Amino acid sequence: MPGYELINKKDELSEIKKIFNNGSVFFRQGFDDKRNGIFKTKDFENSFCKKINTKYALAVTSGTAALRVALASLGLKKNDEVITQSFTFVATVEAIIESGANPVCCEIDETLNMSPHDLEKKITKKTKAVILVHMLGTPGDLQKIKKICKKKSLILIEDTAWGLGGKLNNKYLGTHGSIGTFSFDYAKAITTGEGGMIVFKNKKDYIKAKAWHDHGHENNPKVPRWEDTRSSSGFNYRFTELQAAVGIAQLKKLSKIINLQRKNSTKIWNNLKNLKQIQLRKSPKNSYQTYDALIVRLNTKKLAIECRKELVKNGLGTKILPEATSWHFAGDWEHIKLSNNKKSNFSSSRKILEKHLSIPINCFMTKNTINKIYKSIKKVLNKHG
Ligand SMILES: *Cc1c(COP(=O)(O)O)cnc(C)c1O
Repeated sequence: MPGYELINKKDELSEIKKIFNNGSVFFRQGFDDKRNGIFKTKDFENSFCKKINTKYALAVTSGTAALRVALASLGLKKNDEVITQSFTFVATVEAIIESGANPVCCEIDETLNMSPHDLEKKITKKTKAVILVHMLGTPGDLQKIKKICKKKSLILIEDTAWGLGGKLNNKYLGTHGSIGTFSFDYAKAITTGEGGMIVFKNKKDYIKAKAWHDHGHENNPKVPRWEDTRSSSGFNYRFTELQAAVGIAQLKKLSKIINLQRKNSTKIWNNLKNLKQIQLRKSPKNSYQTYDALIVRLNTKKLAIECRKELVKNGLGTKILPEATSWHFAGDWEHIKLSNNKKSNFSSSRKILEKHLSIPINCFMTKNTINKIYKSIKKVLNKHG
């Protein structure tokens, strides 16, 4: 969960002070004669590119906005379809609906991410793009999914809201497809309170998205803002300089955050792995996971429920699975109309999810907490084993 655990006055606040010490809080661009060379949003985008080794980044107001702006850059038309997975945060599907396209969800596999097999079945003539979500810090099956997208000429977007810092084959998540999106809300690896980022493989998509996220302004630094040209309408999803200041300080801590999370989940799993009826969540070969949560699979749904009960009894709780699937699983969204799924309740995904338990991981976890997690699960497995 974790960026919020490492926010302090020394790092984040002193970045903000640089803004206040140099004029006022301006837009991300313009007002060059007043701001003493302070461009926090631009600096944050540049550091982000450097960090995950990509070329074009655009900061926006949230992870949901990142998806929305990414879709806007594709120029989708009415009745176009965008496919994502049944297990994701509701925002992924909301962004598709907001873009005017029809959302289609496909089943997940044992990695808890998009099933390439079901993806192939869900593709129609109307499909234009695929949003693969790297849920809870574990990469989706990029190798297969990229191949399918290429074969069918579909654009691949990676919803990396929950995967910043994760890698597959040593390449950062979010940089494998055409577009990657990220979130900096309070619960994500690094936080700016609210915020998001989009990275692009192609300059053309970046330019389009940048204009669209700012009412269509085709920013020209040589003229005043009101003289900017425009070729389409857009909206306002502009990041603020204040958010960017926090982001610059947070990004410097990303590797530390992920190392701490990995260390803590390894400690817990090293205890658990000797028990029977419990396995680690499956992940693609050569995955580097962020371990935002430690996800384990129990042999049965009943065991997962019992383990959760015992954890909660000891004041520990779980995260998303099974706690909050109603916001993260298409099979439970009675309020959203998905096209193409003909009343599917995603029973295959549900069967997989039901056996999993996600244990929240923090940067700072006491020996006592780590022990309590182990003991609670051990008690249940020994009793029912
Ligand atoms: C958090 C999240 C989002 C939305 O990000 P916000 O910044 O909260 O708008 C989108 N997709 C996934 C998978 C997420 O976990």
